Amino acid sequence: MAFTKNVEGMMLLEQPFARVPYENYRKVFRTQQKNIEKEIGAIQTAASDLAKNAQGSLNPQGTLKSIDGMIGRVESLKRKLSDLEQSAGRPTQDVMRERYQHLAVIESPTTSDAEYSQWAEKRLDRWIVDWALRTGKEKTARIIAQQKDIETLVDIDLFMDIHRVEHALAHQSCTEALAWCSENKTALRKIKSTLEFELRLQEYIELCRARRKEDAIAYTKKHLVTWQETHLAQIRQALGLLAFPPATTCGPYKRLYDPSRWDVLVQSFRTAIYTLNTLPSEPLLNLSMYAGLSALKLPACYDEHMKSVDCPVCDPALGQLAKEVPASHHVNSSIVCSITGKIMDEDNMPMALPNGYVYSKEALQEMAAKNDGQVTCPRTGYTCDFSDLRKVFIS
Ligand SMILES: [Zn+2]
Repeated sequence: MAFTKNVEGMMLLEQPFARVPYENYRKVFRTQQKNIEKEIGAIQTAASDLAKNAQGSLNPQGTLKSIDGMIGRVESLKRKLSDLEQSAGRPTQDVMRERYQHLAVIESPTTSDAEYSQWAEKRLDRWIVDWALRTGKEKTARIIAQQKDIETLVDIDLFMDIHRVEHALAHQSCTEALAWCSENKTALRKIKSTLEFELRLQEYIELCRARRKEDAIAYTKKHLVTWQETHLAQIRQALGLLAFPPATTCGPYKRLYDPSRWDVLVQSFRTAIYTLNTLPSEPLLNLSMYAGLSALKLPACYDEHMKSVDCPVCDPALGQLAKEVPASHHVNSSIVCSITGKIMDEDNMPMALPNGYVYSKEALQEMAAKNDGQVTCPRTGYTCDFSDLRKVFIS
């Protein structure tokens, strides 16, 4: 039997899988471009200066020095570019190729069921690594990635970057997060992120906390004023901190001094870097499980007396995960015989014993055939004749 695969649906969850290395590659490219522009610009200036001087007084030693300088710049540029290519450029290209090949498996019409199962298993491994990385289980993530040979298919480097910046924020340093903001300036502007402003504001608050008023004023001029078009009210309020010491009981200023602002910064950073890489805010493993659980969830799953051992939602751990998802919508309920586990319908009618318990006709017929026409209720031990049973009609 051939699988019907919902390729489009599967691809929806795979967007970050393709996007993360692309974002990384874009960053490498931008850095290379910046380096080239900087060095070539300097060389052009030096060359035109030299040309101007050449028309006037020619100083051989000065000319030689200037040419040497230019050669030095070109050489250092060449070194920088090749370092970057070695450390980040090439691996990123390989990662992209391998990831696209991995995705191509599900799109290909010639993929067999066995190949698809293998693919799905690999996807599960990837999602477990993603879950481990997001929940701070870095060692576990690395071990799985290595053992399953999926290192190019998971985002360990990205999450290491995230941890590095978050660690710094947790230790009250904005430096790393600000460097990340400057690397991703254009992209952050596009998604209208205010992370950089929040970080700048925090650095300003820390200067006020230390009562370094002059430094705080200088900092405002340099880093906060540029945001006045969009954040004027916040900047004005922040300036009030110059008059209010950290021990203030005045609401708005007390809130600015609140150390819990650092936790908010960690959250804002995470949101920004996830958005840039199109990563969902929750682990992919959870998202796909939500989809499965919502197809099974019934109100009975949360009723102590109606739980079923065969139902994943009835399981306390998975049930916790299913709490937020909507219950499944069954237009027709199906009734399952507790003896045979088969569905009861018009071909296998439900039959009621006089004591009110209901089982499938098939099960009861089989029981009667073995016991001289007698059937026994497995739940209560009640015994009666097969002819005492009544058909049950479901409406
Ligand atoms: Zn259930």
